[in-house]
Order: sequence, then C-alpha cells, then structure tokens
Amino acid sequence: MERPVIVNACRLMRRLSRFLPALVVAASIGTAFAQSDAATEEESDPVTDYFVGNLLFVFYHELGHGLIHKLDLPVLGREEDAADQLATLMLMDAGTDSVGGEPVLTAALGWLDSWKKRDGEAEESDYWDEHSLDLQRYANIVCLVYGSDPDSYKNLVAEWDLPADRAERCPNDFYSAAASWNSVMDGVWVTEEQPAPADNRSFTLEVEPAQSEETREIAHYVAEQQVFEGLIESMNQNMILPAQIKVVARDCGEENAYYDPETSEITMCYEWLATFMADAEKQAE
Ligand SMILES: [Zn+2]
Repeated sequence: MERPVIVNACRLMRRLSRFLPALVVAASIGTAFAQSDAATEEESDPVTDYFVGNLLFVFYHELGHGLIHKLDLPVLGREEDAADQLATLMLMDAGTDSVGGEPVLTAALGWLDSWKKRDGEAEESDYWDEHSLDLQRYANIVCLVYGSDPDSYKNLVAEWDLPADRAERCPNDFYSAAASWNSVMDGVWVTEEQPAPADNRSFTLEVEPAQSEETREIAHYVAEQQVFEGLIESMNQNMILPAQIKVVARDCGEENAYYDPETSEITMCYEWLATFMADAEKQAE
C-alpha cells in the first residue's frame, strides 16, 4: 500500500466545535516550537508536525482511558477503540499544521508507518491484543475524518485507500462517536459562564530527567520546548475533572504510554517519543 500524501483540504469551520480546545492545545505547542526554532527560515517544519501530531494522539488516547476511569463511564465495546475515537475527535479540530496538513491525518500515518515497520504482517499474538491492529487504527481514523465531512475529504477515498463501500458508513460512525463523546465531555469542558478557576489543577505534571543514553536527547528536547507544560496549561484552561490526573514523562524501558487507574497517572514514555522523532526525521528525508 502506498503511503498517502497529506494535502491541504482547506476545510470550512465546521462540525462539532465542542472539540475546539484541541485547537488551543495544538496551537500553543506549535507556537512554542515556532518561537524556539527561529534559526530556520522555513515556515514549514514537517518533523515537528509529525512529532506533535503523533504525541498528541497518544496523549489524548490515554486521556480517554483516564476519563473513562474518572467519570466512571460505561464502555460498550472495546475501550481501546473508544480511546482512539476520543483522540481522533480531539485532533480533528486542531486546525492545520505548518505545511497545511492536518494533525489527525498525520497521526493516522503514524499508525500506518508502525504497521509497515513490521512488513505489514500481524503475528498471532496481535489478534489477541486489546488494541486493534495498527492498520485498523489507521483505517478507523481515516474513516472518522472522512465521515465528519465527506465532501471535503473525497481525497481519502481516492488516495488513502478508503474503500467506497466502507466510506458510505463512515458518516454514521463519526456521528455515533461524536455524539457519545460529546455527551460525556459536556460535563468536562469549561464554558464562558463557567471558566476554569485560575488554580485549576485537574491535570498536574512531572517531567523526569532521562535515565538512559538513548532517551537523553528526546527528554532534553521536550523539556526545552516545554511540550508538556504547554499541553497541561491548556488542559487546565479548558477542562475541569472531578478528580486529578497526573501526567508523567519519563523513561519506561519500553516504547509505551499508559494510564494507570491505581495512581491516576498518564505515563508518556521517552522511548516512544524518541521513536516518533526518529520516524519524523525519516519521513522528512
Ligand atoms: Zn489504550
């Protein structure tokens, strides 16, 4: 399967702007990068776009697990797929990145790249995994994005291998996912009438130093760019949770990210972030 190219779909302001806070988050990170990257004259930075798009998808996925736990939500289906849906919806309204692409489609490409690294083959253990296959995670994101606005995203059928008969059912998938998560998020988003208090600490942060040679560079990068500081600040401006979630960036000894209900912590592992960065650099070559 050919790796599709992200084109500027130049969409109208549309759809469910309930997920607009994702825009604020992505924009604040993008600005942080842009300011610190003054040495380069170029406006576009596909490496940063790929890194941020994939980091945000993973973070919002873990947030999905956190919300399911903290809000005691019923999960009618696979929780991993529900978490992917939230991540997709959050990123959908994140606007365009520096090359006019969309972070949500960049994240889809991340799953496609991950699938291709394994020569596009699943092992038996993959079918037992609680997650959908990487290729399915790619397909599910593409379907939701297409379903949100079929006219604007015709190119996903033509160029991103979305089969026409599947595309027909994508709008229904999108509305079902959006309606479900919107009903939940209504109680979480701040409103104009009820903005977040200045001392809102629904999300707290701990950025640990790297412990290994392999992760030193990426840990230094996220610390210097204040990637997580920007993210957490924006989350606290936009969401109020019934109980605190702590976000921890650290070495894990494996490429991973997870939410632990015992400690109410989202862990973002440097090892996985380092892989995103390496893949980003590879794609940009
Ligand atoms: Zn998960």
